[in-house]
Amino acid sequence: MTIDLENLPIGAFFEDVSGAIKSCNKLYLKTLGINNGNSPRSWREMIDLEDEMSTQKEWNEATNDKKSKHIKCRLKKPNGNIIRVDIRANPLLDKSGNLQGYTGTLIDITNQAMFEELLERFKKAVEKTDSQIIFTDAEGIVVFANDAVEKLTGFTSGEIVGTKAGKLWGGLMDAEYYTKLWQKIKIEKLPFDAEIINKKKNGETYFAQINITPVLDSKGEVEFFVGIERDITYFKEMDRVKNEFISITSHQLRTPLSSIKWLCELFWNGDLKGLSNDQKEIMQKVQNENDRLIKLVNSLLNISRIESDKIVITPILTNIPQLVDKVLDDFKELIKSKKQTVEIKFPVGTPQLFLDTKLVGEALSNLISNAHKYTPEGGRLWVKGKVIGNELIISVTDNGIGIPVNDQHRIFEKFFRAENALLKQTNGSGLGLYFVKWVTESQGGRVWFESTENVGTTFYLAFPITHKN
Ligand code: ADP
Repeated sequence: MTIDLENLPIGAFFEDVSGAIKSCNKLYLKTLGINNGNSPRSWREMIDLEDEMSTQKEWNEATNDKKSKHIKCRLKKPNGNIIRVDIRANPLLDKSGNLQGYTGTLIDITNQAMFEELLERFKKAVEKTDSQIIFTDAEGIVVFANDAVEKLTGFTSGEIVGTKAGKLWGGLMDAEYYTKLWQKIKIEKLPFDAEIINKKKNGETYFAQINITPVLDSKGEVEFFVGIERDITYFKEMDRVKNEFISITSHQLRTPLSSIKWLCELFWNGDLKGLSNDQKEIMQKVQNENDRLIKLVNSLLNISRIESDKIVITPILTNIPQLVDKVLDDFKELIKSKKQTVEIKFPVGTPQLFLDTKLVGEALSNLISNAHKYTPEGGRLWVKGKVIGNELIISVTDNGIGIPVNDQHRIFEKFFRAENALLKQTNGSGLGLYFVKWVTESQGGRVWFESTENVGTTFYLAFPITHKN
């Protein structure tokens, strides 16, 4: 019998019952790294030590029963390299049913096996991680959910796979949230990061931080999505407790501080003739320190209100130049005591803005207070307004200590104070600018600054002009 093995697209061989190779193609030799000129070696002689026992056992069992064989094992090539091969062989029987040998195919599966091993390890790692991980197809249909998803949501992987991501445990946010999400990941093909409220199988709700990333193919089309969700319910609760604590203590502190302020005012308004100049100076210090404490407590209260969504914004038509005058009135004495000058410049007919006057007044007060605090004696301050396009830009400038370049990126963070400010001005909480940013952005505005150390700083607030003046 002649068998033409040469034209087969994979390694092929014919071996007799003893295992000697009677015929093989070039791909068989090439796969096993055997030189063409040499007599073909049996793949069985090349089995790697690690697989030798198990492979021989499998082979002998199949040979005894004259059955087909399918074996995966490691072979050691003549140059010492180890490869993984997939071997399939069929028995050749003569007319009387006696075994003549085997015809077989042999494929190098080293790369595929390595990929499968890697995938298996990756799957194990993903399955055991605490974060909830899902993979979906390009339409958002779940193809994989790890153990953590089952554990958190209460739905089994069988229930989840094949459904639209989040269908079983989502749907609690408003429609705009989901539209934004889809727009970002599917149309803009960018990752989406946000907080979300979801619902477990038992109806319980939980807070999560989600990150959904589109994975693109070589043509730039979405191939699949990877979604990572982290349960942050505990941290949210801790945050709520912290805010409540700050809120309660601040309220409690405010009452005695207001009483001290009131008592001090009684003193000044009454007859102080009986007091010596030194005593009057001490009284003034008590009053100043008390004012500082009131400011700090108010800042803390504002932060806790912001973080628990308790600030109500009440926009009314606001005349910004008038508001600036009013705010500056409170700083008159302080500015005079440091021999500083202030220049105010707003164009005639500055448009009125539809804003929460009290909140914007507090934000301007923080900026002016900073300009005064971080500028040495004899320094200069400017408060200006300018209409550019559809915005009113308010700027507060000083020629003070400036903000070091290395600290500039953190300046709006809660409790952050720059290195130079800490050295020169101990009075400060690092809460003022955080509040300014929130007040501005929550009313559709923008805030930014320019600063050079030892030259000066300008903070800008830009608000849209929405009202026809
Ligand atoms: P505080 O002034 O109470 O420390 P803020 O939040 O108002 O807190 O400001 C944060 C930090 O930003 C300040 O500590 C200071 O380092 C810096 N900063 C703010 N305004 C100015 C300014 N006009 N000049 C220099 N540094 C400033």
